[in-house]
Amino acid sequence: MSREDGYFWDPRVELLDREEIRALQLRKLRDVLDRCTRSPFYRRWFKEAGFRPEKVRSLEDLRALPPMDKDTLRGAAPRDFLTVPLDEIVRVHSSSGTTGQATIIFHTMKDIQAWADLGARCMYMTGVRRSDVFQNMMGYGLFTGGLGFHYAAERLGAMVIPAGSGNSKRQIQLMREFGTTVIHVIPSYALYLLEVFREMGVDPRADTELRIAFIGAEPHTEDLRRRVEEAYGVDAYNSYGLSEMSGPGVAFECPRKEGMHVWEDAFILEVLDPRTLEPVGEGEEGELVFTSLHREGMPLLRYRTRDLAFTYPDVCACGRAHRRISRIKGRTDDMFIIKGVNIFPMQVEKVLLGILGVGSNYRIILETVGLRDEMRVLVEVSDKLWHGDVRELNRLREKIINELKQEILVTPLVTLVEPGSLAREEGKAVRVVDRREYVKGV
Ligand code: ADP
Ligand code: ZN
Repeated sequence: MSREDGYFWDPRVELLDREEIRALQLRKLRDVLDRCTRSPFYRRWFKEAGFRPEKVRSLEDLRALPPMDKDTLRGAAPRDFLTVPLDEIVRVHSSSGTTGQATIIFHTMKDIQAWADLGARCMYMTGVRRSDVFQNMMGYGLFTGGLGFHYAAERLGAMVIPAGSGNSKRQIQLMREFGTTVIHVIPSYALYLLEVFREMGVDPRADTELRIAFIGAEPHTEDLRRRVEEAYGVDAYNSYGLSEMSGPGVAFECPRKEGMHVWEDAFILEVLDPRTLEPVGEGEEGELVFTSLHREGMPLLRYRTRDLAFTYPDVCACGRAHRRISRIKGRTDDMFIIKGVNIFPMQVEKVLLGILGVGSNYRIILETVGLRDEMRVLVEVSDKLWHGDVRELNRLREKIINELKQEILVTPLVTLVEPGSLAREEGKAVRVVDRREYVKGV
């Protein structure tokens, strides 16, 4: 693809060079800071930090302000963040509440439109056009995944099927009835849906028009993407967003699929060491911290996501200089410690999905056995294997134990289970269940 291919929804902004992006960011930042002085929360926040917004002359000056996180949002009344009268608010969304009480974000009409426009930019970049049929399998409601990209796809001019989450058979019927070409789906659910396709005797490759999948809202591995691409016969693109930065549309893969472009005209991205809060270098893993530049109702400054990733050096071959972030390794809170070793669920997924015979779901159970803490991995196996030879199952179990041990340096307990037997969520998958007796409160 090249500039001439027209894969640019907003070429003027998408093709800015680094210097132009930074200049635009500074201009917008100063406007946002000015707006923030109208909000009771920010007036307090600035005062406590001794931060003088009118003195900001460079993007680096923003670092004098302490970052905020979910607890900061939880600790103040959502209305206190507003920089507009409540009358101008037309929509409220909230986070999913994955790590505790959900956080609230208010939007003005302009905010909704700007968000839809960013989403349309993401979709257009991957080749979605007006002729496409977009089936939105994300939950509608307060969760941002559904309505966020619903409006984005309409903005682009595609036909939207607001299917929502769950109701798996119906999803497949809708795909066939309307000739769905693009799906927006949580990755763990995309794998699960394959089982339903099988039960219904429908082959997603041969019996549907699918060509593109947007997968996001939860961490997933390259192997999971590959499985989705192969089984559905689609190009699958990683989609990153969070309710605090409106929702999906913060960072998105271009057709190169080498990292996700963060739309830097709308967000200032910092990657910080989560302990020292100092910036890390390019290519070094750190916590993503965002400042919203495109939101008028409730802008957030230096918001700590807890999400861990690194940035890629260089301008992408697609021509966009908007910086790219890697796949999200997980949240800092996803990490668990067993036998003194730090482990992220994605390390386990990477191993499992690379092994032939492993089915579409897994769960990590942390439990106390006697006086010891153990990590047990429940792994669904493929249908064929489950009904096959016991020796093969044993071989698979041994292989999983060995490969996991190499990756995480701890020998896990592994239990193979029947395909479809682990509970499914319609939203984000629950990867870890902690039943340890002694760790809590330590
Ligand atoms: P919650 O923070 O309660 O889960 P959100 O619905 O706002 O609520 O979810 C945003 C979070 O979801 C992000 O901070 C990140 O942890 C996760 N997430 C979203 N998209 C991706 C993605 N493509 N890859 C990995 N994690 C993602
Ligand atoms: Zn690119």
